[in-house]
Amino acid sequence: MLNPHVYQLVFGCLAHGSGDNVFDTRGEEVLLVLTGRRYRLEFTSGQELFAEKIGAICRSVWNTGLEQRRHYRRRGAFIGYAEQCRQLAEAKAEFPWLGEAPAQVLQQTLKDLDAACARHGAWKVRWRAVRRWQSSFRFPSPGQIAVERLSRRWGRAKLPKFGWVRFRWTRPLGGIIRSATVSFDGAHWHISFLVEDGLTTPAAHPGPAVGIDRGVVVAATTSDGDLFNRVFITAGEAARYRRLQQQLARSWRGSNRRKTVVAQLGAIMRRVRYRRADFNARTAASLCDRYGTVVLEDLKTKNMTASAAGTVDQPGTNVAQKSGLNRAILDKGWHGLERSLGNAARRTGTRIVKVNPAYTSITCSACGWVDATSRESQARFACTSCEMVAHADVNAAVNIKNAAGHAVSGRGDLAVGRSTKRQPTRTPTR
Ligand SMILES: [Zn+2]
Repeated sequence: MLNPHVYQLVFGCLAHGSGDNVFDTRGEEVLLVLTGRRYRLEFTSGQELFAEKIGAICRSVWNTGLEQRRHYRRRGAFIGYAEQCRQLAEAKAEFPWLGEAPAQVLQQTLKDLDAACARHGAWKVRWRAVRRWQSSFRFPSPGQIAVERLSRRWGRAKLPKFGWVRFRWTRPLGGIIRSATVSFDGAHWHISFLVEDGLTTPAAHPGPAVGIDRGVVVAATTSDGDLFNRVFITAGEAARYRRLQQQLARSWRGSNRRKTVVAQLGAIMRRVRYRRADFNARTAASLCDRYGTVVLEDLKTKNMTASAAGTVDQPGTNVAQKSGLNRAILDKGWHGLERSLGNAARRTGTRIVKVNPAYTSITCSACGWVDATSRESQARFACTSCEMVAHADVNAAVNIKNAAGHAVSGRGDLAVGRSTKRQPTRTPTR
């Protein structure tokens, strides 16, 4: 049955709710899609202070709500969104500062918490620490948001309790506003509108299929032999980053010096993040324009960075910064590429398929022979059975493309069976 009102969050402009649904573009049900439009805000100094204050209140509401949920769980009980909302309204009488933030923004925070707990469980949802979490809050009621264009370069939006806020009109809004999110990226405030742009995804893309191998040395290699890569952090930036890390280690906690250094480190990482996002968007657009099916490895990207994330939590060292630099150099933004492909596929109708990545790098794409020694080096693959020689990443990309016949798209279930032809004939040695 077709449901004309199935909305899909595609653009990752919200703190929660995006990411997992992006592979649903193949479903005929998805007729109306919401997309994100992000603009740089130019707050007045008063508005900036107010935004910081709301961010702090939201953080506090989130943390209190999470603590409460865990407290209930410890006793084997449960507290949900409706009850937390009711208690929030009561708490406003006792803590008047809660009332300074727009009510719908705080309710949205509890709703986001509810969604996060439903998805990950109350024990896995993270605290919003002052140092880690960057302010982000959503105005969910379109009726209370107004947008006007002031000039060629400037627009303004009316938000509850803020009044009019100015933003740089850098791209068309192109749709009906469903919600607005105000967020801070470490240096600037932005406003993201979730708009219903009326764009419908074409039923199918007539183009051929392609396999993508995502690597550390080359960001993405296709089965047709194209390499997509970009340097995300320059050598100069990396050197400066290392120097700043040393300065950070020598500075006192809470000092102004430390704040400056942290801001400078943040500025470098922000540039890296934007470069990566730009690269992902361009790569995804190029692939989706050309191909009808894009096959990816179903990498458990979370697992791949798990060791770095684990060490971040160790206090008293600079592991966090070190892993930040390592990630900037090594991480080619695999998860981001998946998301970007989901976005681009919306426009072109390209099918995105994920396959089990097992053995793709050590299997011969010509004869199916599995042997770890076939992969002579990072770049060269020479089959020990049939003498086929190829670029190792291209060979892997071809295997990924071939595996698509057994793919289950979407998250979770991996392809269960591999064809008998490609079944590994012996356990590969590593
Ligand atoms: Zn072979």
